[in-house]
Amino acid sequence: MQSRLVRVSWLTTALLLAAAVAAPGARAAGGAEVVVYSARIEQLIKPMFDAFTARSGVRVRLFSASEAELYERLKAEGSSTPADVLMTVDVGNLWLAQQAGLLQGFQSAVIERNVPAHLRAKGNEWVGLSVRARTIVYSPERVKPETVPSYESLGDPRWRGRLCLRTSKKVYNQSMVATMIKTLGEKRTEGVLRGWMANEPRIFASDTKLLEAIAAGQCDLGLVNTYYLAAIKAKDAAFPVALAWANQKDRGVHVNVSGAGVTRHAPHRAEAIRLVEFLSMPEAQSLYADVNYEYPANPAVRPSALLAAWGPFTADQVDVAAAGEFQAAAVRLMDRVGWK
Ligand code: FE
Repeated sequence: MQSRLVRVSWLTTALLLAAAVAAPGARAAGGAEVVVYSARIEQLIKPMFDAFTARSGVRVRLFSASEAELYERLKAEGSSTPADVLMTVDVGNLWLAQQAGLLQGFQSAVIERNVPAHLRAKGNEWVGLSVRARTIVYSPERVKPETVPSYESLGDPRWRGRLCLRTSKKVYNQSMVATMIKTLGEKRTEGVLRGWMANEPRIFASDTKLLEAIAAGQCDLGLVNTYYLAAIKAKDAAFPVALAWANQKDRGVHVNVSGAGVTRHAPHRAEAIRLVEFLSMPEAQSLYADVNYEYPANPAVRPSALLAAWGPFTADQVDVAAAGEFQAAAVRLMDRVGWK
């Protein structure tokens, strides 16, 4: 019953939004606009949309909600959706939307030039727009970086009772394990995870809480997306947690993307493509780097100064779509090894 009520309220909101979009009075001068469903924090993406409007004259109407809500909303709305673009983090989420038939591909020389093939879907059903690296963080007082060269090394018995991990419920970890399965195979990945579990890791609800636990001495090392550490360091340069790039001698650091896709029933398809293309260009890519502390997906754009201080790193070149393809296998595996 409750889910039905929720569903009705989604539809109501969608209809209101559709009506607002259709109302002539709501249109900007010149008329062109694009409707974005976004699971990203509004203040992080608004600067890119403002830049797009300034360059193109196309107005952006933003609707923000959680990934799960946007996914259900797009499914419920079907061909009557007002949404042109879906923006979210993690390939796991983008891939699910693609599999559910909620996105459409498009041809674009701009995207092909700006975004490496392993960071987008084959037909551009979704396009990676920023890169997020998930790597090892540690207390420089209690851990020597040379003792943690790889994800595998977190299973060393010396880290018993000293390892922190985020919950396996988070898609970031599911995607990381999924790409490991793609590269190492399920058996070897299970061996790595069993090593981590043998160290009886403390489990956290967020990357930020995990970083704070290392700083507070509750544990000595863990895995996080680097932008969480960058955001803390930007405010407190002395925050006592350091970063080590994992697996630099072999497959490289696990990377994921935030990205966007054009919805299957986009009422403003041309403007939608134009927006996704714009987001891949140097101007918008620099904003990703400066505002979000993420790495640009466009290799021609430099990361922000704070990130540059961590030096360059070798990223895992595995096709990030593997995060979607092996997500179910990853969830089963994490459950089997007892990762809470
Ligand atoms: Fe995040």
